[in-house]
Amino acid sequence: MAKRKIVKFPDERLRRISKKVTEFDDELGELLDDMRETMYANDGMGLAAPQVGVPIRAVVMDVCGNFFEFVNPEITFEEGEQIDDEGCLSVGPYNDKVTRPYKVTVKAQDRFGYRYEITGEKYFARCASHEIDHLNGVLFIDKSEKGQDYIKKHGKK
Ligand code: ZN
Repeated sequence: MAKRKIVKFPDERLRRISKKVTEFDDELGELLDDMRETMYANDGMGLAAPQVGVPIRAVVMDVCGNFFEFVNPEITFEEGEQIDDEGCLSVGPYNDKVTRPYKVTVKAQDRFGYRYEITGEKYFARCASHEIDHLNGVLFIDKSEKGQDYIKKHGKK
């Protein structure tokens, strides 16, 4: 395992749509292990592959001590609303209030391609929404007026 360098805003790589994973090989396993290590080394709650410069649909998260690994994740159900502070290893130091669903169901595959579904609330729902947004080139600063100001100030001129 090795720590990888985190891609920082306003790097264009954070704005791309990541590709679907079709090969569940050792390279994918190694990437996921590295992402886990990189997330913990930076005290993050989640990390998406494009944040380490790999444009594929893979995500790791740690929610209240529970580790999750999602390949090709999709949110298939969401319910309710929560507003709370959010940050991102690729942005900042900067935090902002962001509205997210209170509960989500994620359909995903594991590193071997096995398909499964998981439903979670609160931090799980916030984190999963944030990380899956990364796979579509969306950042939490896109979601509020204050965030728009941040983009104007720190984005590419
Ligand atoms: Zn993030």
